[in-house]
Amino acid sequence: MKVLILGGTAGGRALARALGAEAVLSLAGVTAAPLSAPDRVGGFGGAAGLADYLEMENFDALIDATHPFAAQISHNAAKAARATGLPLLRLQRPPWPIEPGWTEAPDLDAAAAMLPAGARVFLSVGSRSLGPFLARGDLWFLTRSIVAPGALPPQGKLILARPPFAVADEMRLMRAHRISHLVSKNAGGGATRAKLEAARALGVGTIMVKRPRLPGVLTVASVDEAVKWVKTIECDLRFRGKI
Ligand code: NAP
Repeated sequence: MKVLILGGTAGGRALARALGAEAVLSLAGVTAAPLSAPDRVGGFGGAAGLADYLEMENFDALIDATHPFAAQISHNAAKAARATGLPLLRLQRPPWPIEPGWTEAPDLDAAAAMLPAGARVFLSVGSRSLGPFLARGDLWFLTRSIVAPGALPPQGKLILARPPFAVADEMRLMRAHRISHLVSKNAGGGATRAKLEAARALGVGTIMVKRPRLPGVLTVASVDEAVKWVKTIECDLRFRGKI
């Protein structure tokens, strides 16, 4: 049984560890020093390239364990699974439930437009999602990302750091920079949740960017469920004499 895991998340890493030799972990190559060594790095050349790779390397199943905001690769995975007939599963943590005091933004452009003039913003959306905020020269940004961004908003400060973060540290950070607003993607999970609790405790307004629409595919929320799915596919393939 050979499974391709499209990674870039803690779940993808944990699933690759759980499946061991059965799994090939693929990363886009965005982070120079990823937390676990992938088996391959870099794009496939779109959905058709991914389908070719799956066939050439004789994969039996595909798992999309990419970040919920990595929409392009999820669309490619769905198309490649259709083209090859391979079973596809998405491993994705559920979104954070909306809390009182949050304002939901349909996308990053809307989030940038919602920020009131003069706001001091804690911008925690990832190094490749800053584009819509670069034109807001009327605001001050504390930008935090794992990888250094190509461009930064005109006024503010950059912090490079990797989650997880503690609530007390997030509160100290927001207080020290007199933050009035937090902008976050609805990534879900525990590693980056502390900023939300800190914002709530300090009365900092949270603008939560909604997840993009992804293709409807079978989805599980835990590594254990994904391993069970792989075992079911494996049993089926053995029963049919395919492996
Ligand atoms: P994206 O827009 O959906 O993907 C852009 C292109 O990168 C894809 O078309 C594909 O290139 C390549 N790619 C993406 N994930 C890949 C993977 N696991 N293995 C091989 N190629 C991959 O993704 P993105 O938003 O730029 O994110 C890139 C990676 O960072 C993703 O793997 C994601 O899990 C991770 N990440 C993203 C975010 C976020 O907020 N977007 C946050 C944390 C981690 P080809 O079309 O050439 O195959």
